[in-house]
Formats: sequence, C-alpha cells, structure tokens
Amino acid sequence: MLDTYQKKYTNNNRQFVLIDKTGIVLESDQTLMKIAFGHSIFELHPFFESLTSVFESKEEVNFYGIHIPFEDQLFIVDIKAAPVKEGLLLILKDLTEHYNSYQKITQTRNESVIKTELTVLKNQELAERERFKNSFIQNFSHELRNPLTSIMAIIEILGDTEMTNEQLQMLDFLKESNTNLRLMLEDTLSIGMIDAGQLQIQKGVFDLHKFFELLIFTYKAKAKEKGLKFDCLWDEKIPKLVEGDRLRLYQIVTNLIDNALKYTEQGSIQFDVKLNQKRANIVNLRFEVTDTGVGISEENKDAIFESFRQVKSNGTTKGVGLGLTIAKKLLLLMNSTIKMQSTLGEGSKFYFDLSFEYPLFTDSNSELSSKARRPKIEAKHLDQKKYKILLVEDDTYVQTTLFKILLNTNRFKIDLAYDGALVLQEVVTNNYDLILMDVNLPNLDGNQITRLIRDFPFKNIKNTPIIGITANAYEESIAECLKAGMQKVLTKPFEKDDLLKLIYKILK
Ligand code: ADP
Repeated sequence: MLDTYQKKYTNNNRQFVLIDKTGIVLESDQTLMKIAFGHSIFELHPFFESLTSVFESKEEVNFYGIHIPFEDQLFIVDIKAAPVKEGLLLILKDLTEHYNSYQKITQTRNESVIKTELTVLKNQELAERERFKNSFIQNFSHELRNPLTSIMAIIEILGDTEMTNEQLQMLDFLKESNTNLRLMLEDTLSIGMIDAGQLQIQKGVFDLHKFFELLIFTYKAKAKEKGLKFDCLWDEKIPKLVEGDRLRLYQIVTNLIDNALKYTEQGSIQFDVKLNQKRANIVNLRFEVTDTGVGISEENKDAIFESFRQVKSNGTTKGVGLGLTIAKKLLLLMNSTIKMQSTLGEGSKFYFDLSFEYPLFTDSNSELSSKARRPKIEAKHLDQKKYKILLVEDDTYVQTTLFKILLNTNRFKIDLAYDGALVLQEVVTNNYDLILMDVNLPNLDGNQITRLIRDFPFKNIKNTPIIGITANAYEESIAECLKAGMQKVLTKPFEKDDLLKLIYKILK
C-alpha cells in the first residue's frame, strides 16, 4: 500500500545518465530530458566538457545551478558526477523552480536595498540643501547688518539737525523704507533660526486688547491708502491679559494682514479673533484674516507655504516669499497649524488657533501697563564727569555713526580702535570706563580680546565693562560672548536708544 503512495508522491525530479570515458551516452532514464543514446553528451551542453577532469580525479564531484536549455525549456539542475567502472554516472537534479524563486527573492531584496539606499541619499541631499540654505541665510543677513545699522543711526542723527519740511518728509520715507528692510532681514533671520532649531518661544504677560488696538491703528491707515477697508473685531469675553510670545504673535498676524493688503485691490480686510474655549486659566482663540483679494488657485495651495516660494497672483509677485513660511513655522513652534480657505478671484481666509494662559486676577493690570511704558533714557545717576569709552569696530561706517551717537550725548570721551591686536595696547595705557567691542574683528576677535582683558593681573583693567556688538543674532554665539566675559551683547541693527540705555545702565 505504502509503495503506491510513495510512488505517487516521490518527486520525479532526478535523471540518471551513464556515459563512457569519451562522453558517449550509454544509458539514461529520460526523466527530465530525452537524451539520444550513442551520442556524445558534450553535444547537449558545453558544460559537460568540464566533466573530463572528473574522470581523472576519480572522486564524486557536485556542480550547482547549471543552466541547460533543452527543447524550448530551461532546466536549472544540480549535477552529481560519480566515477563508475563503465565511465561516469551523472545524477541531474531538477531545481528550476527552486532557483527561480530564489532569484526572485534575491532580486526583491536587492531592489529594496537599493531603494533604501536611494532614500538615504535623497535625505542626505535634502539635509545638505537645507544646511546650505541656512548658512546662506545666516551669512547674507550678517552682511546686511552693518550697513543697516549705519543707515538707522544716520537717520536718527539727521533727525536731530535743522531741516526743512521737505527734507523731514524725505527722512520719513527713508525711515519707513529702512524699517521695511529691517523687518525683511528679521524675517529672513527668523527662518534661519527656526530651521537651525535656535528660535525659542518666549512667553510673557501682555495686553491682548492693546495688541488689537495697535493693529487697528497701523492697518486702518495703510488700508485706506489703498482704498480698502480694514476692520478688527474681537470677542469681548477674551481676557485682556494673556501669557504668550507677543512678538511672535505680532510677526504671524502682521505677515498675514500684510499679505491680505498686498493681494487685495478692492474690498476689505477683516481681522477677527474668536473665543473657541475658556477653561480654568486657559483660553483658546481663533485668529482669522479674511480678504476679498485675488485668491489662490487649487494647484498653488501647498506651494505658497514653501520658503522663498512665490506664486504669481494677478501677474505680479511682491515680497520675498517668506511671510507664510514664517507664519507656518512659528505656529508649529507654538503647537498650532496655519489653515487656509481660498477661491480664485474671490478672496482668501488664513486662520489658526492658539492657546494662552491668562491670570485669573487682573490686579497686575496697572503694574503691567506701567512696566510696558517705554522708560525714558536717563543718566541722572551718573557723575557729571566725561566717561572714557573705547570703541572697537572695524567697519568704518558703523564706527563713524556710533562715534557720532556717543559724541552727541556730550557725556563721553571716545577713543577708536579697529584692529583687535591694537586694543590691548590702548586698554593698558588708558583707563577706560567701558569698552564697546565689535565681536567680528581682524587679527584677534572680540571674544579673544575680552578673555585676554579678563585675565589681566590689574583689577582696573581686568574689570573694565565690555559691551559686545555683533551681527550674529544666534543664541549660541551670544552665549559665547558672555562666556568670554562680556557684560551684555547688542545685535545689529539696534536702536540708538537701546545702546545708550545699556551704556548708562552698565556705567552706574
Ligand atoms: P510674499 O508675499 O513675500 O510673496 P508669502 O510667503 O507671504 O510671500 O506668500 C507666498 C505667496 O502666497 C505669495 O507670493 C502669494 O502668491 C500667495 N499669497 C499669500 N497670501 C495671499 C493672499 N492673502 N491672497 C492671495 N495670495 C496670497
């Protein structure tokens, strides 16, 4: 009984062939290939010629994965060649299916390895491009800071001189353009900092209602100039004081409203703030900027959020293509997302939700508003003597403008140095009350000089206050200056008042 089953299920994949020492086929069971008797097996396939070596060795030899095409069929076989007294016994084992599926598996595996490697390469390329973009932005904004600082300072100095009305008006234009340039620079820098993971959200308590009023004040006039209406409505139940990053919220909202103004030729721009939810001391608000402008086509709806990406609206592009990217990235840092609805030719709505903590008791109200008021720059606490300041700056324009700012106060005697190596000589021979030091200097940089000064054995030199001035606003480079021993670091471009305020504070 078992014999029958065995016969049925025994795999018929073996062929036995007997050849003589010259390769002539003596016998064959023909299970796989019908081989002609009395002919040389070498005619079947050139592989068999290699068997001559087996005759000589007199030992069994195995060959694996031999491809033999036979009558329109390809056999892939393992062959055992055993020397016998008649000549050679060949046992051909058909493993065509096995080898084919093995090949398929290997191929799939190779393809998947190649795919993974391609993805890795692609990611590397993307990371490389991102790195290049960031370092480009960093260098580019760095280079712009010096001239911008000079222009700002010169505008302020000019403003203090006698001028005709026409000149004053022109100065106002100059101021306005320069402010725009500065904001663009700040935006560019923000992108670089966000991408480098260096921008942190800084929370503080601020007055939301005042925030809205400032926006109304700013944008009513701007909209009117363009013949548009601007309205800002907010739910009265929204707390007055909230805790959040006012500066970044301002950056997001103004980017959206600026865009609405840019891309709307007639109609209105509406800024609404709605109360989504209020519980415990957390409030969730929806900010919406709606315009009746050109709108955005379906195919461009994703592209507009990419950096430096502009989409032609109404045949024109305005700006540098960063506004929306910044808004999107800042919101991401605040755990929110920017959303948009738009119909081409009808208008757009950009909106997002944000949560704020708010104080349950508003006693601090009066305290906050008094704190928020800009303090007047006073130097009453200082002696009437003239303080000696060493100004170290290699950019001649910045040097001249800073020199004039300091000179105009009539409170300082100023020495100038432009080369790091010369500073030490000056510091040793003069007893300075303060050093104003650019960080990026030829020969010795500001940090190196500061470290050398702090290592001096004489107390009067060692303890001279040093304010650093840098074009590099990155947190880590500022931290490096402070670590080197600077008291404070100002980043270019800065306001004249900020500089004087800081100097007076440190001189006390
Ligand atoms: P920019 O305005 O500097 O070009 P943005 O990143 O702010 O850069 O915007 C990217 C693109 O999105 C713009 O070039 C414009 O085509 C489109 N866009 C943005 N806001 C609006 C809007 N309110 N209406 C129509 N198109 C808009």
